[in-house]
Amino acid sequence: MADYDLAIIGGGLNGVSIARDAAGRGLRVILFEQGDLGGAASSATPRLVHGDLSVLERRGFWRVRRALAERGTWLKIAPHLVRPMRFAIPSHSDERPPWLVRAGLLLYDRLTRRNGLPPSATIDITHHPVGNALKRPFGTAFEYSDCVVDDARLVILTALDAAERGAVIRTGARCVRADRTDIWRLAVVDRGHRRAITARALVNATGGWTSMVAETVLRQKPPAAGAIQISQIIVRRLFESDDVYVFQHSDGRLIFASPFERDFTLIGTATHPFKGDPGIVAMPAADVSYLCEAANRYFRERVEPTDVVRTVSGVNLAQDPAQRRLTRDGALVVDARRRRAPLITIFGGDVTISRLRAERAVSRLTPFYPMSPRWTAGAVLPGGDFAWQRFDDEVDVVRDRWRFLAEPQARRLVAAYGSRLSAVLGEATSRADLGPTFGPELTGAEVRYLMTTEWARFPDDILWRRSKLGLTMSQADRDALAAFMASVC
Ligand SMILES: Cc1cc2nc3c(=O)[nH]c(=O)nc-3n(C[C@H](O)[C@H](O)[C@H](O)COP(=O)(O)OP(=O)(O)OC[C@H]3O[C@@H](n4cnc5c(N)ncnc54)[C@H](O)[C@@H]3O)c2cc1C
Repeated sequence: MADYDLAIIGGGLNGVSIARDAAGRGLRVILFEQGDLGGAASSATPRLVHGDLSVLERRGFWRVRRALAERGTWLKIAPHLVRPMRFAIPSHSDERPPWLVRAGLLLYDRLTRRNGLPPSATIDITHHPVGNALKRPFGTAFEYSDCVVDDARLVILTALDAAERGAVIRTGARCVRADRTDIWRLAVVDRGHRRAITARALVNATGGWTSMVAETVLRQKPPAAGAIQISQIIVRRLFESDDVYVFQHSDGRLIFASPFERDFTLIGTATHPFKGDPGIVAMPAADVSYLCEAANRYFRERVEPTDVVRTVSGVNLAQDPAQRRLTRDGALVVDARRRRAPLITIFGGDVTISRLRAERAVSRLTPFYPMSPRWTAGAVLPGGDFAWQRFDDEVDVVRDRWRFLAEPQARRLVAAYGSRLSAVLGEATSRADLGPTFGPELTGAEVRYLMTTEWARFPDDILWRRSKLGLTMSQADRDALAAFMASVC
């Protein structure tokens, strides 16, 4: 008998979503990630859970409706990671006539099932926080509702839920070979140790590495797809409003400028075909200038490449790289031949549809072994058992219990851990009870929790994926953190 029912190569959003879905259906699952969970494209997403106006513009009404329904599901199952926001489109007629934008938003509202998010509106921004940051006198803006997501933590908590349902999650474990008979025999270099496991089915969910893994590890024909790079820039906060700005750039693309981690602004995206090793992705200077130029068409305060405090880039495959974008569904290829163990290849796709994509992939395995029915739409992620409308109440409850926490810290901790915060802070009654501190926010207690429960192994795993505290932490505190993590191991 094979060691596992399902082995998954790749710990990005696609891989962990399949692990969660399959483990919840009673399958014996193991997942191998060569680096850190969400360490590649899945922490470089536009961080949007949305219907996507650009799909609406391409008359993808059904896709938009399905995505908006999924947005409602995400608010229910991950209220700490997925937050509702107002999005503002300054109105001008350089690209699209205002009536067309307004009509599109009215249709967007119609495609949305009632879920408590406010409908779109035309707002006068002459004397309005949205208008204050803009360089030319926009009279009006169109505001609508959508959501933002902490993409990296979505990967981590999806993996955590999979593990709590029995899946084995291995990070620092690279699959180097997979032989296929009526079962799969995998060779893995797991934190320096070579190990072999067998599984009845295999998933190749290696994102930008999909073709390389197909050819060199599975020795299979790679999928007909090309790699695309997506990039964004992070700059100091450019505006007071809590809205996400949606700008129409001169090439017709929509550029988003989002409030990011209290004191920053995330601007994106720039995409183009990619050649090279997906593990070494740097943002080209031309893409940085492109996004600065897009922002400077609107914002009063100029953004120069020298203002960029961090760039975020990822690579994934797309069936038509010339389009310079991923299709929302991504690609799912099932290869099931007689007396050959099944192989699923999954790549691309966006965050909003990721849960459905995984559900569809696992359902394709039902002919091969019995499993329980679909379940993930109704099951919260760890820490998600509270109503999204009660996020602020959760923050108040936390501040009442851990009185030494300032409001911004309590808000960050609820956004990261939700109703599971007591597993991090325990019975602490003072900050000193949480051990050493690293920078203004991170404590020894939180680091221990992330190392024992969320597979954190290196400082970057904590500073850039399990939080974004890397944006404000000094080198001295990073060194202290590295020393502390080494002592905990
Ligand atoms: C051009 C582009 C546009 C995008 N547009 C959107 C968008 O509009 N909206 C949106 O929500 N998202 C968008 N995304 C992001 C998209 O959501 C992600 O691509 C998605 O999260 C899926 O990631 P993944 O799991 O397939 O890949 P990844 O997150 O890259 O994960 C693959 C993992 O496989 C691991 N791996 C590789 N080889 C091995 C091996 N041999 N052994 C073990 N592990 C291995 C890698 O280390 C990596 O962690 C875009 C991404 C790109 C690149």
